[in-house]
Amino acid sequence: MESQTQFKRRFSFEFFPPKTPEGMEKLQVVRDKLAKRKPDFFSVTYGAGGSTRERTIDTVLTLHRQGISTAPHLSCIGATKESIGELLDLYRSNGIQRIVALRGDLPSGMGAPGELRYANELVSYIRERTGDHFSIEVAAYPEFHPQAQNAEADLNNFRRKVEAGATSAITQYFFNADSYFYFVERCEKAGLNLPIVPGIMPITNYSNLARFSDMCGAEIPRWVRKQLEAYGDDSASIRKFGEEVVTRLCERLLAAGAPGIHFYTLNQAEPSLAVWDNLNLGDKISF
Ligand code: FAD
Repeated sequence: MESQTQFKRRFSFEFFPPKTPEGMEKLQVVRDKLAKRKPDFFSVTYGAGGSTRERTIDTVLTLHRQGISTAPHLSCIGATKESIGELLDLYRSNGIQRIVALRGDLPSGMGAPGELRYANELVSYIRERTGDHFSIEVAAYPEFHPQAQNAEADLNNFRRKVEAGATSAITQYFFNADSYFYFVERCEKAGLNLPIVPGIMPITNYSNLARFSDMCGAEIPRWVRKQLEAYGDDSASIRKFGEEVVTRLCERLLAAGAPGIHFYTLNQAEPSLAVWDNLNLGDKISF
């Protein structure tokens, strides 16, 4: 973990682009609460195969204009270089300086992979088209990507993204701190020198979390799963227990030198804020 301590810590909150005007109003309230903590940036997801293209653009530009630097996620699967190039130009001309570059997942049975098949190809394309303008974040998988052939192939893939020009990485969420420490150590041994920021999912609802974790290959430890199951419909207890588990996880990560935290907010302020405040991060990060 030694290498991670050289990087300045940064804290960020991720949103998805709302589907309705009411959703956008709700996001504004969430945004205002989180903005008070002065995060380094917000980010906004991009739906599979470009399904949220316009909504992602609107949400990114709205949040960015309101004063907190905002990073669009951009996935390449199913897209043409031309359509990605147009997005890059639009973001650059609107003062956006950071992109979260992903392959994405095509919904089953939907279309061809497109001109850029993997995230490393997208990173290369962004560098080719826009030089050093953007900071580029890529995804990392301490518990391995579900489609990876094996552990070695997954690390080699990560290396390809770094060598293509990624500036830093955000991990898939995990609840087992050792998986993160082990991943970072493997990167250190492989000579990959970039900030690897833990992505953290607050726990608020067991069935959604279990379903999503199965899909993305994140493991819910047995003791956490059993305890969450035991709470049944008691959502107050789930939240309280979830807050404790996630706070302790973040404490361990930061104490060991993790270079910040990226919160998957699911467009809710309170669960991330509770953890933030438990960690005494204050409203301005200064370490
Ligand atoms: P890649 O790095 O391209 O890897 C995908 C798989 O292909 C891996 O198994 C890898 O080992 C393998 N691979 C890579 N290169 C090669 C190669 N050359 N040959 C053979 N195999 C290879 N999804 C969205 O749709 N929208 C979002 O906004 C979004 N945001 C995310 C944010 C974060 C921080 C994270 C961690 C994930 C996000 N995702 C999002 C999910 C992501 O799109 C999926 O996990 C997707 O399956 C992989 O994307 P990737 O960029 O990691 O792909």
